[in-house]
Amino acid sequence: MTVAARACAICGKPQTDKFKPFCSARCADVDLNRWLKGSYVVPGKPLGEDDEAESAPDESAI
Ligand SMILES: [Zn+2]
Repeated sequence: MTVAARACAICGKPQTDKFKPFCSARCADVDLNRWLKGSYVVPGKPLGEDDEAESAPDESAI
């Protein structure tokens, strides 16, 4: 029991203690980059654009 290491989330190879939950520094880096990109995209888009788009056609309609 407890022999099988969990699989690396990036490439599926067994994780290593040093780079848990990944198998290597490279996979850890890949995951970090994905995470950073994802968190940059989310706060960039919201409300501001939607707000303007909604008030613009409303004024010209009336
Ligand atoms: Zn890996």
